Amino acid sequence: MQPERKNEKENQRNCAQRKNQRQQCSILMDAVPTSKRPFDAMQRSMPCNRMSADTSVQPLIIGAGIAGLTLGIALRDRGIEAEICEAAPELRPLGAGIWMAPNAMQIFGRLGLAQPIIDAGAEVERVALLDSRLHEISSSSLATVREKFGFTIAAIQRAELHRILLDRFGNRSLRLGKRLASIENHLAAPTAVFEDGTAASAPCLIGADGIHSAARHLIRPSALPRRTGQLCWSGLTEFDLPWEFRRSTVEIWGGRSRMGIADVGHGRAYWFLVSSGVDVARPRPSDCIAELLEIVKDYDGPSRDLIRATPVSAVSEVELTDLRPRLPWSAGNICLIGDAAHPTTPNLGQGGAQAVEDAWTLARCLAEYREPAQAFHAFETARFKKVKTVSGIAEIARPTPMGHEYCGIVEEVGKEVRKEVRKIKPGQFVVGSFATSDNTCVICQDGYQSSCLQREFMSAAQAALLRVPLADGTLVATRDLPSKELIPGLLATSDVLGTGWFAAHAASVKPGRTVVVVGDGAVGLLGVLSARQMGAERIIAMSRHEARQKLAREFGATDIVTERGDEGIARIKDLTKGIGADSVLECVGTQESMMQAIRSARPGGFVSYVGVPHGVDLDGAGLFFAHVHLHGGPAPVRRFLPELIDLVLNEKIDPAKVFDLTLPLDQVAEGYRAMDERRAIKTLLRT
Ligand SMILES: Cc1cc2nc3c(=O)[nH]c(=O)nc-3n(C[C@H](O)[C@H](O)[C@H](O)COP(=O)(O)OP(=O)(O)OC[C@H]3O[C@@H](n4cnc5c(N)ncnc54)[C@H](O)[C@@H]3O)c2cc1C
Ligand SMILES: [Zn+2]
Repeated sequence: MQPERKNEKENQRNCAQRKNQRQQCSILMDAVPTSKRPFDAMQRSMPCNRMSADTSVQPLIIGAGIAGLTLGIALRDRGIEAEICEAAPELRPLGAGIWMAPNAMQIFGRLGLAQPIIDAGAEVERVALLDSRLHEISSSSLATVREKFGFTIAAIQRAELHRILLDRFGNRSLRLGKRLASIENHLAAPTAVFEDGTAASAPCLIGADGIHSAARHLIRPSALPRRTGQLCWSGLTEFDLPWEFRRSTVEIWGGRSRMGIADVGHGRAYWFLVSSGVDVARPRPSDCIAELLEIVKDYDGPSRDLIRATPVSAVSEVELTDLRPRLPWSAGNICLIGDAAHPTTPNLGQGGAQAVEDAWTLARCLAEYREPAQAFHAFETARFKKVKTVSGIAEIARPTPMGHEYCGIVEEVGKEVRKEVRKIKPGQFVVGSFATSDNTCVICQDGYQSSCLQREFMSAAQAALLRVPLADGTLVATRDLPSKELIPGLLATSDVLGTGWFAAHAASVKPGRTVVVVGDGAVGLLGVLSARQMGAERIIAMSRHEARQKLAREFGATDIVTERGDEGIARIKDLTKGIGADSVLECVGTQESMMQAIRSARPGGFVSYVGVPHGVDLDGAGLFFAHVHLHGGPAPVRRFLPELIDLVLNEKIDPAKVFDLTLPLDQVAEGYRAMDERRAIKTLLRT
């Protein structure tokens, strides 16, 4: 491909234009609070004199969804004409409505599309989360968002959004009824072969063909979307929403379902309902309305009327799927964007917005780099971190040693530190924790060794040999070598028991108290054991798995509650004379489990939290009126180790029961898989 020669004046103008674009980008950077300046890497790596729009690039885009159409428009804005090939014979977007978040609206703003979108839909002024009785869990006005970014969320009918994108892109370069079957010669000039037997070649090809992308199959054939077992229905209808739902997006959380409702303007309401309680493989009913009404039967407010008012033909059903974000998104002269590259479940309402960010960034990269492969590489660099943050999954790019729970025999004390290491000696059996600690600083002295001034986090403990920094402060040695049978119990003290114990301690468990434990993983189960040891009278374990319920009872649970969310809280209230529990141990770390914990505690009660939080956002007013003591964080296991080791060695407790799978060290991956698939509570690895 020959780059176009430009005279100097033109180059300067381009340069100024791009500077301007970059300034605009920096506004965008702040649009999504989770983003860490997504365009930084790009800006640093693109000096002005390398940039010149290359009209000979002319990509072929597969798919006329949000990503494909936005890319076509953004490219044209930069002087690049693209052709789009779409499988459908006519464009009928799947799903009823969509919320376009402020980050997407800023880009649409730059493309001159924001106002038409707002006019055709509705600008949202409030985002609210309610329980099924319509009590507010959280609510926020978007006034400050608008002030800061110029836009709030736009809620719009999908068909309207598509019409606006299509009107702008035009029909001239859009080919319908072209379903991509395969791609040939992708390294140089890719040729798309369509199911109708025709083919098209282009200098580069963009796969914007959605979650079941045929283009992705070529780049990463093994990357198949993960099924979540959750069904999602959506619909749109004319409906007179109560005033508190107008200009709002509202999510209502029931037990195993949640429903979103949005005013999309012009007297219409869009809704979606997600349920994990329906068999995905059931025969699909011809009339789903009765099934949906059953799911929301306990919801107060307009949910049932809204579903009843929606014609069956306007309701669509999909099983939610996603894919762990992973590079590469490109190979040779082919690149994926939008759901084709990184589909997520709609939980954060960001899938479409990320597709729009992709389109904007890729258009910029293609305009600035002459070689498509170079542009694609820059695009991946610019976008991957943000996408990963939004989907909330930590990427592991290569085989990585991990693990922070350990016990064993001291082989050697480091030469350089031998003088300082006085207590720990070769031949001793020792247990340590996931955080190293000197055990002497003011924080350690106060019992918070996991925040020691010299703390390091341990990793790579799933190995035959492990180096432990600050050995004297971190490790606790047993007096004699323990018997083989007691070693699993001692290993449990290293993390899961230490953490469950801290949870009970931080929730102020005392003799006679009523305790609720949220979460039935190893930590939750050992939280039950800890509460029993501390003399709790009643211990209510919230668990759905039969095997785990059984173990919870063995560890001392007096009651089991299987319900979650509102229903779970109602059950706890039933069991505690309507007031809630004295102590609640939160051992999961999700928004739902945290709210469940706080709302299960009585006023004046204690809530501890030891699950590493994933997207937990607490609302000030809710906390204010809950009137509970909150205490948690990474457990200072070192504080409790001497006591816990004694309890195990004296056989007062047997925390080793949480290990229900033992594997040799070289099968560590299978150990994680078993825990992930809930086949094992906790895997024990032996050298
Ligand atoms: C229930 C639900 C609610 C959602 N709500 C929101 C929300 O509120 N906000 C938000 O930002 N996101 C939301 N999302 C996510 C959002 O819908 C997607 O992230 C977005 O549509 C992705 O756009 P895309 O262009 O990458 O893919 P798609 O929209 O799937 O478009 C892909 C296009 O490619 C075409 N195609 C497929 N295969 C081929 C082929 N072989 N050859 C040619 N063409 C092909 C398809 O026909 C389609 O037109 C939601 C998703 C779901 C499931
Ligand atoms: Zn310290």
